[in-house]
Amino acid sequence: MSNRGDRGKPVAGHGPGPDELIVPGSLGEALQLLRHHSDIGIWGGGTWWLQQSPEVRTGRRILALHAVRELRRVVRTGHHVEIGATVPAGRLLGAGRRFLPAVALDAIRRVGPPPVRNVATLGGAVAIPETILPVTAALQLIDTSVELRRQGNSRWVSMGQFRDPSGTLRIAPGEVVTRLRIPLRTWTHWMIHTYGAPYPAGRPSLTLVGAASMDKTGIDEFRFALLVDGRRQIRLREAETDLVGRAVPLTERDRRTIIASLEDNPIFGSDLDDLGRWRASNGLRNFLLRLE
Ligand SMILES: Cc1cc2nc3c(=O)[nH]c(=O)nc-3n(C[C@H](O)[C@H](O)[C@H](O)COP(=O)(O)OP(=O)(O)OC[C@H]3O[C@@H](n4cnc5c(N)ncnc54)[C@H](O)[C@@H]3O)c2cc1C
Repeated sequence: MSNRGDRGKPVAGHGPGPDELIVPGSLGEALQLLRHHSDIGIWGGGTWWLQQSPEVRTGRRILALHAVRELRRVVRTGHHVEIGATVPAGRLLGAGRRFLPAVALDAIRRVGPPPVRNVATLGGAVAIPETILPVTAALQLIDTSVELRRQGNSRWVSMGQFRDPSGTLRIAPGEVVTRLRIPLRTWTHWMIHTYGAPYPAGRPSLTLVGAASMDKTGIDEFRFALLVDGRRQIRLREAETDLVGRAVPLTERDRRTIIASLEDNPIFGSDLDDLGRWRASNGLRNFLLRLE
């Protein structure tokens, strides 16, 4: 989009189609517009939109959220931090450095190179319909939830519930992502590793994400997930629960049992080639070896 509307005013677009950019000045105004035009495109930072072919944008009405002040706030409480949907990822790397979990900062850094992440918003990153970005997989692993609002209604959903098992967003007509809530807890160990290009969507890629916290007796919490081609995810829930309370270092037998739970997952067998399978098993093994 090359045009920018005055706050609250629709403007006629340039270019080949009758597109229109609307810039509400308040959340109430945005929700009201969404109620009456639920097919409207939502523009957070716009970095995804700008990569789309003109056909995707042409003829569409776009609702740009940059002037909605309520969506640009970051609020920290005792147990979590709530981040407005249009807070740029780059701003969080500066302002959030003192309090965000290190694994969250590491994930946010991967939203793209500095020129992209200084504009891209967290709301936009988690709400791309076509793909699940590594940042989303990592935030999901550490129990981030998303606030969805439409006129007269608001709800919080865990990021795991925000998409169905096939990766499709569960967002109702007229709804918009307004906040993300990240629990403030310390993860003593974490890993985020992407093979291949996570972006643009549709290219082969594999992301491994792991997080663990240790206490004096051993493993207090353990999480591990795989994101395949930005679409399908594997989560080792049973193995994660089994590991809690185990002393470290783990025995080789324990490590083999956990790796087998990954390799038994149907997605592991069907969606990864030999190299992908090796990378996934080896990545998990290395992460388990680091726990001490
Ligand atoms: C040059 C370039 C390099 C990149 N490199 C990487 C990379 O290395 N790794 C990586 O992971 N990603 C990369 N990306 C992708 C980038 O992370 C995403 O484009 C970005 O996160 C999207 O955020 P945005 O705010 O710009 O979203 P937008 O473009 O505004 O929107 C993205 C989608 O989310 C929807 N949306 C936006 N805000 C909301 C909301 N509040 N509620 C509901 N729906 C909403 C939009 O309608 C749209 O469908 C790159 C992008 C570019 C352009």
